Amino acid sequence: MGRSSQEHESETISIFNARTNQTERVEKILKTDQEWRRLLTPEQYRITRAKGTERPFTDKCDLPKEQGIYQCVCCGTDLFSLDTKFESGTGWPSFFNPVSELNISTRPDNSLMMRRIEVLCARCDAHLGHVFDDGPPPTRKRYCINSAALRFVRHGN
Ligand SMILES: [Zn+2]
Repeated sequence: MGRSSQEHESETISIFNARTNQTERVEKILKTDQEWRRLLTPEQYRITRAKGTERPFTDKCDLPKEQGIYQCVCCGTDLFSLDTKFESGTGWPSFFNPVSELNISTRPDNSLMMRRIEVLCARCDAHLGHVFDDGPPPTRKRYCINSAALRFVRHGN
């Protein structure tokens, strides 16, 4: 014990736990590139850690029949509920709302000569996708997310 606190300055954040319906304090997850490469498939790594974009229509699976939550593939943070998913026609999983604003962070992304808003996991800074203002009511937001960044977990499991 002892001197660890200064070495890895761990930062705690609040995130929403969809299972318990409560906000909890958790430590941010900081890993080296090497560690992420070990934990993720090459495609998951390319999307989430190197800000890649998967080809559209990678998400071939039909909508799950049971309710559940899409979690961050890197750290398991709850990100999007199945009942906020909609068919956007873009070929990427699209949601009109995150589970909680706490669980994602956003920042301007002016790459590729476009002005977009990047969406990241608040806990581990995984690149998830982008958010646009042309979604359906009630939020009019369209969170356009790479399926490789998500893991679907059914309720009750
Ligand atoms: Zn994460």
